[in-house]
Amino acid sequence: MNRSFGRANLTQVLKTDVLVIGGGAAGIRAAIEARRQNLEVLLISTFRMGLGNNSAISHGGFSAVDPEGDRDSLDLFFEDVMKSGCGLSRPFLVRRMVDGAWREAKELEKMGVKFLQAPDGNYVRVGRGGHSVPRRLATTAHNGMALISPLRQCAQALQVAELQEVKAVRLLHSGGQIAGVLVVNPKSECLAIAAKSVVLATGGAGAIYPKHNNAPSATGDGYALAYEASLPLQDLEFVQFVLRPVREPGVPPRLPPIEFLLLNGAVLQDSSGKPLMDPEASPNAFTRDALTQIAAREIMKAGGKEEFVFLDLKNLNQETRKELPPLQKDRIKVYSVATYFMGGIRVEEDLRPSIAGLFVAGEVMGGMHGANRLGGNALAEAFVFGSLAGSQAGQFVRKSGREFLFQEPQALQEWRRMLESLRGIRAGNLPEMETELQSILEQSAGVIRNKEELAAGLTRLRNLGEAFSGADWPSLDNAWGILTFRNKLFVSEMILRSALKREETRGAHFREDFPSRDDRHWLSSICIRRNGNEEMVLSSAPVGPAPQLGSTPHGTPAKA
Ligand SMILES: Cc1cc2nc3c(=O)[nH]c(=O)nc-3n(C[C@H](O)[C@H](O)[C@H](O)COP(=O)(O)OP(=O)(O)OC[C@H]3O[C@@H](n4cnc5c(N)ncnc54)[C@H](O)[C@@H]3O)c2cc1C
Repeated sequence: MNRSFGRANLTQVLKTDVLVIGGGAAGIRAAIEARRQNLEVLLISTFRMGLGNNSAISHGGFSAVDPEGDRDSLDLFFEDVMKSGCGLSRPFLVRRMVDGAWREAKELEKMGVKFLQAPDGNYVRVGRGGHSVPRRLATTAHNGMALISPLRQCAQALQVAELQEVKAVRLLHSGGQIAGVLVVNPKSECLAIAAKSVVLATGGAGAIYPKHNNAPSATGDGYALAYEASLPLQDLEFVQFVLRPVREPGVPPRLPPIEFLLLNGAVLQDSSGKPLMDPEASPNAFTRDALTQIAAREIMKAGGKEEFVFLDLKNLNQETRKELPPLQKDRIKVYSVATYFMGGIRVEEDLRPSIAGLFVAGEVMGGMHGANRLGGNALAEAFVFGSLAGSQAGQFVRKSGREFLFQEPQALQEWRRMLESLRGIRAGNLPEMETELQSILEQSAGVIRNKEELAAGLTRLRNLGEAFSGADWPSLDNAWGILTFRNKLFVSEMILRSALKREETRGAHFREDFPSRDDRHWLSSICIRRNGNEEMVLSSAPVGPAPQLGSTPHGTPAKA
């Protein structure tokens, strides 16, 4: 092959029993659990384990119900999650999360995590919209690093091996069994990793949107890896947006979530100071989807001249005010940013996708949150399913006693095929293409959607896809960026096509041309899969029945 893009040979082949892709909460938790089974575990990530990901930059809020406590119940937690998912949360997943979250909180404490406690020794519980009672544990430092640092130290103490700054670009599998992955490094070299089992924990894709609050690593690589391996995905139309303050002088860069401020006396207003939420309604009822939709409608009403609404903090209660950094303003501007992907890889009831030896966990998995996610539930999900995936991956290797299925010629062929697909006729201009993609997502797949914009977005995306695949990428310098962009194209198409297909409004998916929820036609998930002709195919899948209470093998039994 006489071209300079990407070295055409594999620079290295590594081997491990269990490979974990992703260094956030789900990935590290999985690595710990697999390592506890005395197996060789290698964790790879695009940055460093525990850094530069959404878990690290999160607020560290963790929903968990003590099955022995008397203020809340596992059943109420289950019902709240099902309700917020608007009929699309898969009950067996919710049950596992609800039943397992407390056990995970206790496990984190053993690793050194400190959850905030009141002087009487009880945990401080924080409220969030959609939770019937306050049930979110907070770390004493109120941030994600307070969870992730002890987790990382635990993984390091267990000697989980780490390979930093590499990007998984292809799952290698044959005969329905996982064999390993191909990864690239920043020098555009390709390495192969042979593994007996693989945990995919690559997080979400919020960072593909122009306005987002995610870590740069959230580019949807895991969705694209799964798609290219012909695994089914679901619910990609449900992208969660949240309100966040506009950065301006006098407003500290990091404030608590807006829903928290609303629960404690803040008021959402239009530019004239008129409240945008019914003053009689409890702010508890306002989930993130409802809040961003209220704000978006107001912005549209104002002719889109401004891109924000206002948050009045005058009546914030004293207790909350004391916790805030000094504010020079009592009325701040807030706007919507993409924060979370409810959709993701579809799993079977035993939590496996359909390639044997492959397991998924965290934001990359779909089906738990349905059409909307409640605050504090993403980290609970990442820890519960991370632990399960790591444990299952370890058991898979131990029970099957399997050998490596990896074959170097097959891996090399895959890599060369990837390089070949990037050889076109015209020079490609990545920054220009990035700008166009962001504009498409902003205009067509934001908080408020309609048929016209979605269809126009898809046409523009198709043109962009053609320009990308017809372009020649002659330089070796940026294989990483080019392959990431390719992933973003896949994910964007999944969002736009699912959003166009779902002709109703449900949870975070708001169609102004179909403003009502329509259970008669849409009480099912939209699934996406690549077929044998490399076409993206959409179908619908039922949500499934609710399991018996307390029936999950790994969870804490529900209180009678
Ligand atoms: C600002 C903010 C605040 C939040 N606050 C909360 C909160 O208080 N409570 C709550 O429950 N949720 C919160 N969330 C959501 C929550 O943080 C995430 O959903 C959760 O951390 C996801 O964990 P994860 O392990 O699945 O993914 P991440 O933590 O995002 O980790 C993904 C990992 O995968 C790696 N990776 C990605 N692609 C590749 C690839 N191709 N090859 C190799 N590695 C790859 C990345 O480097 C990263 O290490 C918040 C989110 C944000 C953005």
